[in-house]
Amino acid sequence: MSHSHDVLVIGGGAAGLMCALTAGQRGLRVLVVEHANRVGKKILMSGGGRCNFTNTGTTPANYLSANPHFCKSALARYTPLDFIQMVERHGIAYHEKELGQLFCDDSSKQIVKMLLDECEAVGARIETGCSVEHVQRTDEGFRLRTTRGSLSAPSLVVACGGLSIPSMGASGFGYELARQFGHAVLPTRAGLVPLTLTGKHQEHLQDLSGVALPVEATCNGRSFRNFMLITHRGVSGPSILQISSYWQPGDDLRLDLLPDSDALRLLREQQASRPAAELKTVLSDLLPRRFAQRLCELWLPNKPMKQFNEPQLREIATQLQSWPLIASGTEGYRTAEVTLGGVDTDELSSSTMQSKKVPGLYFIGEVVDVTGWLGGYNFQWAWASGHAAGNAV
Ligand SMILES: Cc1cc2nc3c(=O)[nH]c(=O)nc-3n(C[C@H](O)[C@H](O)[C@H](O)COP(=O)(O)OP(=O)(O)OC[C@H]3O[C@@H](n4cnc5c(N)ncnc54)[C@H](O)[C@@H]3O)c2cc1C
Repeated sequence: MSHSHDVLVIGGGAAGLMCALTAGQRGLRVLVVEHANRVGKKILMSGGGRCNFTNTGTTPANYLSANPHFCKSALARYTPLDFIQMVERHGIAYHEKELGQLFCDDSSKQIVKMLLDECEAVGARIETGCSVEHVQRTDEGFRLRTTRGSLSAPSLVVACGGLSIPSMGASGFGYELARQFGHAVLPTRAGLVPLTLTGKHQEHLQDLSGVALPVEATCNGRSFRNFMLITHRGVSGPSILQISSYWQPGDDLRLDLLPDSDALRLLREQQASRPAAELKTVLSDLLPRRFAQRLCELWLPNKPMKQFNEPQLREIATQLQSWPLIASGTEGYRTAEVTLGGVDTDELSSSTMQSKKVPGLYFIGEVVDVTGWLGGYNFQWAWASGHAAGNAV
């Protein structure tokens, strides 16, 4: 490997590749060191193989961080439109799925190819299958000992990602490096992750695995309205993945099972129009049938509508619109889309991602304590923070 580089980037994921091509465009000699056998594995598997590469409605409010202001500068200077322009320049067809979420029409491979073509065009090099074993600060910058020899450069960009999906190359190396250089790392946990149920809560729903219904999930003052999917181990689907980032064991998590309706009004109407119909029959018209029947077998009193008095109807309506979901935990990093927490932003410059402690050291992407919602926001953070560092190194 050549030893003369201006910038070394550890991690060839979304953020690392964006940083490399941006720095390369400025004429810098860049080398990306990736320990997996290929770059951009998470891009390839994202969005069901079609990569939800950005969200046109991205705002800082779509991110979780101990410092919610930190992401503002980078997001403002590299917007979804900037990325869309690159996608269009490369002739990649895309479409909007919902709520500003943009996906490739064909394949995520096109996004990885685009990033690699951009890197190649500016001479940014990529070394795959190369693990960094040790990083040392020198008078000239940084020296890396890797499985393929030693490398040095005045600038080092840490783009190692988070802990989610270890089988895709995730490692805690970025956090280790941060600690080595005196940076605080805020506690990490799985985000955008299915929730698990145990005991009776699981037994009662397990055989409904595969049933999906629209819900509004609410926890700690946040609500997400979208589908919930019952799984063998608990619950998943976009509304659950979103709320999982705001939930921790023991927190009160509520589901509105009729998010587009006034349940009390509906029940009253049904009582008037179908007095002899049982509650489970009425609910089967409003919810997936097997789910409605399970509710009435286990939790709600099932009898003809005419036999409910007004307080009972009110109670049922309240339960339907604020159903307590007793989750035991999450499926963890094995299936999580992102890692919450990470390198504390207090010690990074928000405009350049440079360490305030160690000049020449940068942290970008998911390794930093900035985590987006589901819907293309995480890639937009990777592009924006990668671009910020690539312009500053
Ligand atoms: C299944 C799945 C689907 C997703 N879908 C979407 C989506 O559609 N839209 C969206 O916005 N976000 C999505 N995400 C989240 C998104 O993939 C991440 O937020 C994003 O990839 C983070 O970019 P990054 O460059 O910081 O990290 P990564 O993309 O994880 O890249 C980090 C790279 O560093 C490498 N690395 C780690 N340790 C070392 C080391 N010691 N030495 C060398 N290299 C190392 C890794 O192999 C990896 O290539 C999804 C995530 C998952 C898991």
